[in-house]
Amino acid sequence: MRPMQHSSKLANVRYELRGPILAAAKKMEAEGHRILRMNLGDTAPFGLEAPESIVTDMIHHLRGAQGYSDSKGIFSARTAISQYYQTKGLMQIGVEDLFVGNGVSELISMTLQAFLENGDEVLIPAPDYPLWTASVTLTGGVPVHYMCQEDNEWWPDMADVAAKITPATRAIVVINPNNPTGAVYPRHILEQFVELARNHDLVIFADEIYEKILYDGRTHIHMASMADDVCMLTFSGLSKAYRMPGYRAGWVALTGPRSAMADFREALELIASLRLCSNVPAQHAIQTSLGGYQSINDLTKPGGRLHEQRDRASNLLNSLPGVSCVPAAGAMYLFVKLDPLMYPITSDEQFVIDLLQDQKILVSHGTAFHWPTTDHFRFVILPSVDDIEEAVRRISVFLAVYRRK
Ligand code: PLP
Repeated sequence: MRPMQHSSKLANVRYELRGPILAAAKKMEAEGHRILRMNLGDTAPFGLEAPESIVTDMIHHLRGAQGYSDSKGIFSARTAISQYYQTKGLMQIGVEDLFVGNGVSELISMTLQAFLENGDEVLIPAPDYPLWTASVTLTGGVPVHYMCQEDNEWWPDMADVAAKITPATRAIVVINPNNPTGAVYPRHILEQFVELARNHDLVIFADEIYEKILYDGRTHIHMASMADDVCMLTFSGLSKAYRMPGYRAGWVALTGPRSAMADFREALELIASLRLCSNVPAQHAIQTSLGGYQSINDLTKPGGRLHEQRDRASNLLNSLPGVSCVPAAGAMYLFVKLDPLMYPITSDEQFVIDLLQDQKILVSHGTAFHWPTTDHFRFVILPSVDDIEEAVRRISVFLAVYRRK
């Protein structure tokens, strides 16, 4: 019998956040160790539960949600999303411009499948949320990373973005607020992206899933509000601000000149129809989520749990010798730097494995986010202050030994 081999299309596809290191941590847990998990952006394990009204509403709709829905999503959800964007000044987004999916993840791969030809280049931030790089690669595209600058609040280096545009570039991915850096981009940065897209005829993929997780009075600007003449796809959903990543509900909004988008829209409708529809009970949560009380603000304001955890984590990490991080302005991550002179790390993956085995704490290595050097790790701020304090204590013990090696 011929062995069943994987497709060559997977040759350069990586998603290390759920790879062998997580498997090693699970094995250690099975052996009875308690691992402090500072690695995944999943709200549920940390007692950050979905608002009760949303869960109740989903249960209420469960019986009536047994059938397939329209491939683009149920009407009430798409109407609610359209109304939500209209309150934000995005008057152009109608029900027909919206596609609901099983989380933003599914819509990323669907939109890329509908859009990319083999060899098309897509500009993606470094560091990135690695699903973008993996999905571009899987759909035959070529990811090209533009650098974000740690010494400038992790905002993108716009000269680098411009320098990396070639005749093969088709799109720019902008993740704002950003995973893994916690950056929130100001208007002048977003305007430069729009200008580059306009001048080079590029599509903007705006991943705005953290749009409501903002600290210190920061505001989020929807890129789609900045130009009617540029083709844009805006992604968002319920996984983060509404704490329901497991229910799987996200959406993408198409904006830009209708005639220029017509062919792509048809292709996306076809791709959407191939997977019939997204999880229908979760679609029923969308209207209640967007229309109801926005409890995320209670968590991100001063005194709120996420705000407190962000402060505690960044203050403690910054107090360690040779360790620094830019406090997150949004989202729920810190991208932490280890001074390479003090900690000469050759493999950051091995560093994370050693930290796990030695101190039973799990973080994610920076190169998994396509950061080019081995001197960063991502620290998730979702665990309680007590766990954050314990995690930083363990990191500090580990680094003290590591430094002397
Ligand atoms: N985009 C970013 C930047 C993310 O961080 C994540 C999840 O962590 C996603 C998209 C995927 O979200 P979803 O749960 O909607 O698939």
